[in-house]
This record gives sequence, C-alpha cells and structure tokens, in this order.
Amino acid sequence: MKIICIGRNYVNHAKEMQAQIPDRPMFFMKPDTALLPRKNPFFYPDFTNDLHYECELVIKINKLGKNIAQKYAGDYYDHVGLGIDFTARDLQAECKKNGQPWEIAKAFENSAPVGPKFLPLEDYNLDNLNFRLEKNGEIVQQGNSKNMIFHVDQLIAYVSQFMTLKIGDFIFTGTPEGVGPVQIGDRLSGFIEDEQLLDIKIK
Ligand code: MG
Repeated sequence: MKIICIGRNYVNHAKEMQAQIPDRPMFFMKPDTALLPRKNPFFYPDFTNDLHYECELVIKINKLGKNIAQKYAGDYYDHVGLGIDFTARDLQAECKKNGQPWEIAKAFENSAPVGPKFLPLEDYNLDNLNFRLEKNGEIVQQGNSKNMIFHVDQLIAYVSQFMTLKIGDFIFTGTPEGVGPVQIGDRLSGFIEDEQLLDIKIK
C-alpha cells in the first residue's frame, strides 16, 4: 500500500507556513514503513531537533481505480480515520531552501501513525467533520473538513490522474493550522468529533 499526503489544503495552515494558497492540489508520498505498528510508542528520531505534529483526516481507499472522475470518487472510499503527518521541520526547511524533495523530512520510519479505527461515512458527514489534536491534554489543533481547499473527491480525481489508487491506500488530506513541536515525554491524542482515534506517546 501507499500513503499519499496532501500539502497546504487548509488556508490558515498555508498562511502559518508562509506558503502560497495552491490553485491545484499538491501531494507527496510516504512508504508503508512510515506507519506506526499498533500500540508501539513513537521514538523521537536522532536526525531532527524540530519534530512537528500535523493532525489530518485520513481516507482509506476501498476500490481500485485510475483516472477517477470527481463525480464517481465517492465510490472509492467509505471510511475516515485520523493520522499524524510527522514532519522534521528543520530538515524540511533545508529541503525547501535547496529545492530538494521532502522525503528525509516527511517519509521517515513511523512518520505516519494512523489510528487503528476508521469511522463509517454513513454515520459521519465528511462535508462537516470536526477533528482535533491534544498534546498532554491541551487542544493544539482544531479542524473541520469543510475548510479543506480541495475536498476529498477532488483529491481523488486529481491524484488518480497520476497513479492508480489501490485498495488499502491512505490519503492524508492535509492539516489545519496549529502545527507545532513535540518533545520526548509528550502524549498526542487525536479525536474525530468525540471519538478518540489516536493515542501516541513520544519516547
Ligand atoms: Mg501534512
């Protein structure tokens, strides 16, 4: 499986990164080794001094497809989950400055924890879904899917022009504002509405 991550999909996050608001979706990828096995702690990597959380709604693809028309994109997913797009912000800044790809900053081991549970979209409205991240019990990020610049069907249509989407692929749909650093000892808890889906200890 593959993990496709959308960048700058919320206006206020693009602004906090001093990045331009995109006129088409922007994506990058993480390998399957970026997942964090269930119940494992996350170990703060040695190669960064500025590790940031980015809490994101995650779509799980449930049907194989390519060149998917936007009007049919809804046939390719029916659950939503929550994940963290861990980012070595210091390495990312260097990559950006040098015009290099982001993999060392974004695609490293365990950089994409996803909660084991996904919520059925027959019970949850993806056009108006609240989610939040708490760090040590304090809310640090709050988002709502209605504030996505490109909604999920647009993302699927766009990405599937370039690559086949397969059953089990994940799409990280972008982070709202409020990204920030974590330290060893922190605990991250992620929620969609009132349902807790993520609980990660930083070791
Ligand atoms: Mg992200």
